[in-house]
Amino acid sequence: MLKKFLYTLWISVFAVILFFSVKNGSFATFINSMENRTFDIRQSLIVNSGVRQHNKDIVIVAIDDASYEYILDNYGEWPLRRDMYAKMVDYIEAQNPKSIAFDFMFVKSMKSDVAADNALINTFKKYDNVFTGMNLDNQPEDLRIPPILPDKLSVKLDNPQDFNVMEYSNCRVILQGILDATSNIGMINVARSEDGVLRKMPVFLKYQDKFYPQLGYIVGVHYLGQEPKLVVEDDGSGEGLILNWYGHAGTFENIPMYKLLKAIDGKDAFDYNFENKVVYFGATAASLFDIKTVPVDKVFPGVEVQATYVNNVIDGSFIIKAPLWVNFVLGLLLSVLTVLFVSKITSMPVALGLSATVYGLYVIVAHYVMVYRNWWVGIVVPLTVALVAFIGAVIVKYLIKSRDFDYQYKLATTDGLTELYNHRYFQEQMQNQVSHSARYNVPLSLILVDIDYFKKFNDTFGHQSGDAVLRQVAFTLKKNVRATDIVCRYGGEEMSIILPNTKYEEAVAIANKLCALVASKACKLSNGKESNVTISLGVASFGEEDGQVPAAIIESADKRLYNAKENGRNRVN
Ligand code: GH3
Ligand code: MG
Ligand code: MG
Repeated sequence: MLKKFLYTLWISVFAVILFFSVKNGSFATFINSMENRTFDIRQSLIVNSGVRQHNKDIVIVAIDDASYEYILDNYGEWPLRRDMYAKMVDYIEAQNPKSIAFDFMFVKSMKSDVAADNALINTFKKYDNVFTGMNLDNQPEDLRIPPILPDKLSVKLDNPQDFNVMEYSNCRVILQGILDATSNIGMINVARSEDGVLRKMPVFLKYQDKFYPQLGYIVGVHYLGQEPKLVVEDDGSGEGLILNWYGHAGTFENIPMYKLLKAIDGKDAFDYNFENKVVYFGATAASLFDIKTVPVDKVFPGVEVQATYVNNVIDGSFIIKAPLWVNFVLGLLLSVLTVLFVSKITSMPVALGLSATVYGLYVIVAHYVMVYRNWWVGIVVPLTVALVAFIGAVIVKYLIKSRDFDYQYKLATTDGLTELYNHRYFQEQMQNQVSHSARYNVPLSLILVDIDYFKKFNDTFGHQSGDAVLRQVAFTLKKNVRATDIVCRYGGEEMSIILPNTKYEEAVAIANKLCALVASKACKLSNGKESNVTISLGVASFGEEDGQVPAAIIESADKRLYNAKENGRNRVN
């Protein structure tokens, strides 16, 4: 009963403390970053095991280092002239791709190469499957007046509250001609965690009270031919949806852009077939700065993040992160098992081994839940909760054990009626004290006590009253000797007091004091009335006269007690 109470109390107290420390403060930040690490490890394992197949329709036309060099050598400048993009789009469109998306922004031209700009604008007019990016930001208004975006770029959300959308105050202006020509423009904003790793990307962003979709989202919707049912809702941070990763950098097919340019320039044949492909243009060259750190790679091109995003939209595979309370409940379930093991299993190593096995199994299950269900259930919070429960259970177990031990010891050495030490303890102590006195040559005395006419007392007042009196006499004796003196119930109504470091004369004095005290104190009887009893006492001491072994000393004291009785009782001898 008490055990259960202690265990329950422990679990409740630590649960409340943990819950609040995990919810707020620097401990929460620490736990969070640890949890993010477990996510990264799980994602890396998934990617390495190859269980998750990326969509083969998504290909990347990469501005890699070689292409960057080719562009500088052949066109003499970076960025590449926009009419070249127009030509590449024409080239690919001739092969009926699903869509073409640019993971960059065609901002207002600095060089006022109007003809080149117009060529690009025309491709946006010509094809309704060409997409490009925009970026929202929070630049001050005195740097740039926030532009008004065409209404066609925004989406109407039925339930914007589900997405806890991040709001921005400004926007980088892109070519007006493109804005006029197409509505296939999506945001390419990203979100990074505190540790700089890109794990989430927004779906919708708010700007001037309207919602604008992510580029990867509209490309994915276009691929599917319908609005996807987003299987996840935002986790409340406003940072967007958590991406599921399909592979390391280079997983999606990368076609170096220079091959396409060479084909267009008539320098080389290029026999790649873009039919039905989602073609993503983007930079992978390290020198072009569009490099991110993601869970599965330290160096990961931004355009592959977009490809991953599109793949998440198409597969509906965005990660669903378990809220804190779910992780907490999981932790409590583990704790219950842990506490069961610790409390029910006597062997601590076995309990520890079983608990560790359960924790290990939990981690494995958590991993496979991510592999097959895209659920991110916590590992750090549940295991922390379980571990604290384990430590707590061990502490409680040892507390209970030591309490049990104290109780057993008391039971073995104490007399139930009088609460004095019992006969066995008396014998044990006599042995110890006599050896001690013999070795160190210190005095030791023994007083034997017997209640006078107790048989008659019982006969007159009944056994109940006899017991009550016995208890009260025992109490009087115990209260009026030193703490180091050992008062025992010798047997029946006889009691004994071992007085270490006490000479015979001193013991006699104490015995006389006790004799007088008992005689003067009225004892309460079971019927509420009062009556007096007297005691007779026999004193003996360790030494040549009375003996140097317990039995001899006890015999001497007994003889003196007999003499006290003979001499009229209520006295010391
Ligand atoms: P005296 O010692 O003065 O010679 O007379 P007495 O009547 O006390 O004689 P004795 O010591 O031989 O008797 C012991 C009596 O104590 C017998 C028994 O009725 C009583 N007694 C012993 N143990 C208990 C006990 O635990 N409870 C009660 N109520 N009586 C006890
Ligand atoms: Mg007796
Ligand atoms: Mg007696």
